[in-house]
Amino acid sequence: MKESEILEDNINTYSSPKDLRITDIRFAKITGAPMDCIMLKILTNSSLVGYGEVRDWSSMTYASILKSRLVGENPCNVDKIFRKIKQFGGQSRMGGGVSGIELALWDLAGKAYGVPVYQMLGGSFRDKIRIYSDTDCEGKHTGSQMGQALKKRKDMGFTFLKMDLGIDQLLDVPGAMNAPFDFKQDIIDASINNMYPSKGIRTDRYRKTLEINNVAHPFTNLHITEKGFDILESYLKDAREVVGYEIPLAIDHIGHISVTDCIKLSNRIEKYNISWLEDALPWQYTEQYKRLSNQTRVPLATGEDIYLKENFKPLLDSGSIDIIHPDILTSGGILETKKIGDYAQSKGIGMAIHMAETPIACMAAAHIAKATENFIALEFHSVDIPWWDSLVNYSNGKDKIIENGFISLSDAPGLGIESLNDEVIKEHMHPDEKGIWLSTKEWDGEWSHDRIWS
Ligand SMILES: [Mg+2]
Repeated sequence: MKESEILEDNINTYSSPKDLRITDIRFAKITGAPMDCIMLKILTNSSLVGYGEVRDWSSMTYASILKSRLVGENPCNVDKIFRKIKQFGGQSRMGGGVSGIELALWDLAGKAYGVPVYQMLGGSFRDKIRIYSDTDCEGKHTGSQMGQALKKRKDMGFTFLKMDLGIDQLLDVPGAMNAPFDFKQDIIDASINNMYPSKGIRTDRYRKTLEINNVAHPFTNLHITEKGFDILESYLKDAREVVGYEIPLAIDHIGHISVTDCIKLSNRIEKYNISWLEDALPWQYTEQYKRLSNQTRVPLATGEDIYLKENFKPLLDSGSIDIIHPDILTSGGILETKKIGDYAQSKGIGMAIHMAETPIACMAAAHIAKATENFIALEFHSVDIPWWDSLVNYSNGKDKIIENGFISLSDAPGLGIESLNDEVIKEHMHPDEKGIWLSTKEWDGEWSHDRIWS
């Protein structure tokens, strides 16, 4: 027997990877996970199905428009397809289509060759993936109550935590912040109205809310007063006193305040040993990040709304970020996030991963976390959603993927998801949808002269 024939014999060809072709793409939109999430399936000319997901609170249109570009391609050519479709992605939710499909391609490639995704990325750096629990407290509450909520998560085995601290806690407190009167009322209204309406519902109230929420930090003219800073500081102090100082604690959702207020806030919270202050400023303002980082000793993190490594680069090159925090369903998917992590590492920056979606995104993120050296922790926002795990059937046969605050991946091919649980998905289907995995035939003829140079 010739050497090439022996090699052929050792490759698992049961699914003939070279003959695999994409035939269709289907979606299921659910609500309450706690976010609205869009699961996707790529179907092939074999029995293999690839699982992916569009970014939370996004639109399946961003993935649907790619169907005609995908059908007929071999899904194992992940990078080739990614380069073909990446022009159709954008920042934040618009990155969701390209990124979500890229996940499904890796899943298919892994299943076709019988290899877990992390192995295709270069192999493992760790057996256990650390999960950080983003912790909410419903309604008006005290810092001690937040501390209790955090302690509960700590008792469940989580070794890394995150909480919110910001202007939402000051909106109804007289004298805690100042802004032009009418604008302050607009912010209060926007906070009360904060809503994510289904498509087709475009009320004036929603339009106004969106408008207010999209005024970027430097332009709100909103400032926290000394009284406001006192309130936020004592809230954090009380929370820390309950949960203790030995567990890492990150801070998110400080609100749209200026760089000067960010400096004041970060100086107030420095002594409470914060792991990172998240999205303090819009990520595009590299110069403001530099200014903030020069005047604080609280680590800074951002990244969940950045699409593609090339857009992470200015921030990573600026030296103003301590931790990079991509969402794999915005960043460009699995390989792009691995590249972002590796580039960050070359600058001495660690990578945490933002994740607020279903087990599909969670498993995909875990594979990247396993295969990227500078990984710190992966976000989890669904501790209180009892049916979250049961959206899927894991290949390792377990009911729960996170155990004592960690994920351990099996060596199952692809992402490690055996199948999806349509009963559970149907039960939580978004009320605007007519069904799950419906035909996407209307996208078959979608076409444009796809080129980005002439
Ligand atoms: Mg965040």
